[in-house]
Amino acid sequence: MTTGTKTIIVVGAGVFGVSAANHLYRELDATTYKIKLITASDYVYFLPSAVRLMISEDYSSSILPLKDVLDDGIKVVKDKVASFNPKSLVLESGEEQEFDVLILATGSKWPDPIGSTYVFGDNYKTHFKKEASRIADANHIVFVGGGFVNCEIVGELLYKYEDEIRSGKKSISIIHNSDKLLPNSGLYGDTLREKVTNYLAGHGIKLYLNTVGTFSDTTPNRILFGEGALKNMDADLIYRGIGILPNVPLNYILNLCDNKGFIQVDKNFQVKAIEEGNIFAIGDVTNFRYHGLFKRDNWIDVLTRNVIGFLKEGSEASLINAISYESGHAPSGVSLGPNVGFGQLPIPLLGTFNLPSFLVARAKSKNLLSDKMESLFKN
Ligand SMILES: Cc1cc2nc3c(=O)[nH]c(=O)nc-3n(C[C@H](O)[C@H](O)[C@H](O)COP(=O)(O)OP(=O)(O)OC[C@H]3O[C@@H](n4cnc5c(N)ncnc54)[C@H](O)[C@@H]3O)c2cc1C
Repeated sequence: MTTGTKTIIVVGAGVFGVSAANHLYRELDATTYKIKLITASDYVYFLPSAVRLMISEDYSSSILPLKDVLDDGIKVVKDKVASFNPKSLVLESGEEQEFDVLILATGSKWPDPIGSTYVFGDNYKTHFKKEASRIADANHIVFVGGGFVNCEIVGELLYKYEDEIRSGKKSISIIHNSDKLLPNSGLYGDTLREKVTNYLAGHGIKLYLNTVGTFSDTTPNRILFGEGALKNMDADLIYRGIGILPNVPLNYILNLCDNKGFIQVDKNFQVKAIEEGNIFAIGDVTNFRYHGLFKRDNWIDVLTRNVIGFLKEGSEASLINAISYESGHAPSGVSLGPNVGFGQLPIPLLGTFNLPSFLVARAKSKNLLSDKMESLFKN
């Protein structure tokens, strides 16, 4: 790298990428440290409120111009990272960029209807209008996978199409591989899972539990399920959402990812496979057990301090560890439309408390955290 100055490149303009870039910019001397953010879009996209964009056109509750949340002195490179190695990365335009420190905050590939700025770039309106009209036109919609995101989307559809669902004009099915909705991952307690399952089933959503659905190779819009895939179900629209798929640019780094494709990091966010110690990763792309925003402040603070420590002291720096939910339940609020929600709060040594629904509805479902969006990116 150029002597005298050091370059820090952040990849991805999600909550973690933007906030990390801002914090580093605020803490480091701008004449010595150059910070670049590589992003596919001029906008940031706030995922927690995205589930409502299919039924409302209130884009400002989920999409903000990047320039409104990113500090002025940070250089924005509008492109996608095609590949990287421990010293440099290559953009889709073919340009190579060298770095002293790289922070990967590339999140996940969310399937439709949620999508990602990685896929729709600046064209969010086209994306959500298309999904809204596919949903409006479909008489039978099937969700393959009853995880957190699909449950929240179905809750929104239930709110919008309650009458059509009750009258049988529109039908919505969820195929899920466990006996209750939400992942059976240990993060969600049985009571929360039961409440979400019972609410959706009790409001006309057809649930196919303990069932694995696969797409038919021969008939479009057909799902096969049951023993030996002998049963099938046709739908006008099928959304799949099975687990989160980390978005890792091409690389030839041995053991970078775990067997599910998440970047393996230490609790200090350093990427385990990089001997030099100059690559960090944060957010949904990492193999942290918990993915979400509850520990955002701690994670951003720890990452900022560790990157600065590394820049100043190299491998001698003593790095600190982040706090996360490494076992047991995680705090969760599941919104099922603007007026309904269920939640849990684990308290160390005391156990997990199920939150009163009116509290979850007020704290989360009403505006899906969009009142906190700007500050989560900016600060
Ligand atoms: C529908 C939904 C609801 C949620 N609700 C909640 C909730 O209520 N509470 C909670 O705590 N958490 C919630 N989460 C989880 C939370 O939103 C995520 O954990 C968090 O937003 C992840 O942020 P991130 O910065 O890691 O990734 P993202 O926000 O996904 O950002 C990644 C960025 O990287 C970019 N990118 C990817 N690859 C490249 C590349 N090669 N080159 C350049 N750019 C690239 C993408 O375009 C994107 O801008 C929800 C998630 C979803 C999907």
